[in-house]
Amino acid sequence: MASKKEQEPSCSFCGRKKRDTQLLISGIEGHICENCVQQAQQIIDEELFQKQRKFQFNLPQTIKPVEIKRFLDEYVVGQDEAKKYLSVAVYNHYKRLNQSKNDDVEIEKSNILMVGQTGTGKTLLARTIAKFLNVPFTIVDATVFTEAGYVGEDVESILSRLLQVCNYDVNAAQHGIVYIDEIDKIARKGDNPSITRDVSGEGVQQALLKLLEGTEVLVPPYGGRKHPEQKMVKVDTSNILFICGGAFEGIDRIIAARMNQNKVGFKKRSEREHVDTTNFLKYLAPHDLRAYGLIPELIGRLPVLVHLDPLDASALRAILTEPKNALLKQYKKIFKADGIQLIIDDDAIDYIVQKAIDYKLGARGLRSICETIMNDSMFELPSKPVKQFHVTREFVEKRMDKVAEKRLRAA
Ligand code: ADP
Repeated sequence: MASKKEQEPSCSFCGRKKRDTQLLISGIEGHICENCVQQAQQIIDEELFQKQRKFQFNLPQTIKPVEIKRFLDEYVVGQDEAKKYLSVAVYNHYKRLNQSKNDDVEIEKSNILMVGQTGTGKTLLARTIAKFLNVPFTIVDATVFTEAGYVGEDVESILSRLLQVCNYDVNAAQHGIVYIDEIDKIARKGDNPSITRDVSGEGVQQALLKLLEGTEVLVPPYGGRKHPEQKMVKVDTSNILFICGGAFEGIDRIIAARMNQNKVGFKKRSEREHVDTTNFLKYLAPHDLRAYGLIPELIGRLPVLVHLDPLDASALRAILTEPKNALLKQYKKIFKADGIQLIIDDDAIDYIVQKAIDYKLGARGLRSICETIMNDSMFELPSKPVKQFHVTREFVEKRMDKVAEKRLRAA
C-alpha cells in the first residue's frame, strides 16, 4: 500500500509537493502550482508580444518626409522647421538601414540635436516619431549617467533599455532610435577642463561619443552592475539613431554675444536690423554649443542641429485645443465617461494661456493649471446628478485665486 507521503499531490510541472506550495490547482490529469502558473503567464506574454511586435526596417513606399511631417503635425503644434529636419533625418535613417553593403558611397548616420526651452515639445516630437515608426525606441535622461567607475549609470545602460523595449531582440535594438534628454546637463562646467575632474560632464560626453559614432558594446541585458553573473550581449550601435535634446539655458546670451561681436561682419545695415532679438536660438551654430560646454567631437557626431521656438499665446491656445491628443479633449473625454458634458468658454481658455505664459513653463504649465482648475470638480461631479460642467472665466479665476491663497498661507 502506498504511504501517505507518496499519495500527496504535487505540481506536474516542477514536482513540488502540495505542502511546499501556496496553491496547487488541480486539472483532469494533474496539478499546477502558483509558481508555474506565473511562469507560464510570462511565457505567454513574451511569445505573443514577440509575434505582435514585428519590427520593420523598411518604410512603405508611399511614406516620404512630407508624410512623416504630416503625422507630426497631428500631434505637435508649430515647430515647423524642427519637424522638417526630423522627418528628413528619420527618412534617411531608413535609407541607411537598407543601403547595400557593397556600395562605395556610404550614407552616414545623421544623429540629431534639438535645442529649445523646456516644455516646447522636444520629447513630444521624439515620442511622436517613435509612434510613427516601427523600430524600438527609448527615452533616457542624460543626468543619470556618470563616467564608468562612479556611482550612477554607465552610458551603456541606454542599450540595456533598448534591448528591454524590443524584448531582447538584438537585431531590432541595433536598428532602433534613442532619445537622450537633458543633454545640456552633461556640458563641461567652466572653460578649463583640467582644474578638477569633471565626473558628470566631459567623461560622460566621451563615453557617449563612442556610442554615437557606432561601436560594438558588451551590454548587461538587465542594466546596471547589480547582476555581475549575467551574460553580456553584444550590441553594435552603428545603425542606432540618436536624438538628443536639451534646454541649454543661457545659450541665447552666448549666441547674442557672438552676433554682437560679428556685427561689423554684416554686409548691410538692413541685415543687422533683421535680427530677431526675441529668439536668438534661430541663429544657433555648432560653436555656440562648444562655448556652452559640449566637446567638439560630440557636436560633430550630432550633425543635424535643430532649434525649437518658444511657444507664444496662440501656440499655447492651439496646444490646448487642436492636437489629436489635446489637453482639453482629454478632459472632455474624462467627464464624458461619467455622462457629463464639459464646456469651456473662450475667455476662460485665454486666462489659462496667460497664466501659462506667466509661469514660463511652456506647454508644461498648461497641464498643471488645468489640473488645478478641474481637480475639485473631477472629485465631486461624478457623484452628483449633473449632466454639464460649464467652465467660465470667472470660475477659472476663482479656482486659481483659491490655490494662490492656499500657497500664501502655507508659505
Ligand atoms: P520638452 O521640450 O521639455 O521636452 P515636452 O515635449 O515634454 O517638452 O512637452 C511637455 C508637454 O507639453 C507635452 O506632454 C505636451 O503635451 C505639451 N507640448 C509641448 N510642446 C508642444 C507642442 N509644440 N505641441 C503640442 N503639445 C506640446
